[in-house]
Amino acid sequence: MNVLPWQTDAFTALQQRRQAGNLPHALLLTGPEGIGRRHFAEVLAASLLCLSPYADGSACGSCQACQLRQAGTHPDLLTLSPEESRVIRIDQIRGLTERLGLSRHHAAWRVVIIEPAEAMNVAAGNALLKTLEEPPPETLLILLASRPALLPATIRSRCQRLSLAMPPRDAALAWLREQGVEAAETLLDLAGGAPLTALALGQEALVRHGNLFRQWIDLADGRADPVKLAAEWIKPDAERPIQWIQAWVGDMIRLRQGARARQAETEGALQKLAGAIDLVRLHRLLDQVQEARRLLGSQVNEQTILEGILIYWANLPRQART
Ligand SMILES: [Zn+2]
Repeated sequence: MNVLPWQTDAFTALQQRRQAGNLPHALLLTGPEGIGRRHFAEVLAASLLCLSPYADGSACGSCQACQLRQAGTHPDLLTLSPEESRVIRIDQIRGLTERLGLSRHHAAWRVVIIEPAEAMNVAAGNALLKTLEEPPPETLLILLASRPALLPATIRSRCQRLSLAMPPRDAALAWLREQGVEAAETLLDLAGGAPLTALALGQEALVRHGNLFRQWIDLADGRADPVKLAAEWIKPDAERPIQWIQAWVGDMIRLRQGARARQAETEGALQKLAGAIDLVRLHRLLDQVQEARRLLGSQVNEQTILEGILIYWANLPRQART
C-alpha cells in the first residue's frame, strides 16, 4: 500500500514523530473529498501495524500483521462508520471502548479509524471523549472529517488536526495517467481537481455532465422545469451536479470579466448566456451554490437545495430582459 505522491510529506512528518516517540494519540484528518484522506489513514494504519516496516516507515506487505490486515481481519485495526442510518451511534462507540480495554493482539500499535467523524451523534461523541482524554497506550485514533466544524469543540480540542491539501494539478494528472485513465484532464475538471474522485467518475460521468449541461442551458431558455430536473439530478448524488453548477457559474463570471473559462467544452454556450445576465446576480447565484456545497452531507434535504438553485437560475435570464 503506497502513499499517494502528494501526501508523502505529511506521511514522512508523522514517521519522524513516531521515531521520536511523540506520535499523537488522536488525529483529526481533514481536507477536501476525493484527495485520498481514507487512503492516507489506511497507509498510516498499515505502517503502524506492520511488524517489520521499511526504513521510511511504510508497511512491508508480507509479515503476519500485514497479511491479516490485507485480509481485513487484523484484530488491532478497528474501523467505525455509520451502519444502517447516517449516524454513528453510542453503542458503536461503547463497543469500541470495550475492545480498547482488552489487551492488544500483536506487539505493534492499535489503530482506530472513524469515518466520517461528523456522523457521531451527540451521545456517541460524548462517549468517545473519555477515550480521547485517557487513551490506551500505543493506540492511535484517526478521525476523518470533511466538515470538521460540525464536530463538537470538545472532540476537536482533544485531537491533533492534520489537513491534507488538494494536490497540484500536474501531480494529480500524472497519477491519473499512471492509473491508465483516459481523458484525465477532462475528468479531473469534472471532479473539481480531486484525483480519486476523477478516477471513480469514469467515462459515464462525461455523459452525465454533458446531459446535465444541456438541461442547464434549457432551463435558462425556459424549456425545462427546474423542480422536475432537481428530482432527476440528485440521482445518484447531489454533490456532483452542485459542484458542476459551481464550475459553470464560476466560468460565466470569468467570461463576463474577460477571462477564459476553465472548462473549454462549455465555454461557447456559457459565453452566450453570461452576456445577458447581470454580474451581481451571477455572484449571488455563486454564493448560493457555495452555501449548498457546504450544507451537503449534513442533515439537509438535498433535493430542496438543488431546486432552490435551479429555480433561481431558470429565472435569471428573464430578469435580465425585463
Ligand atoms: Zn508488515
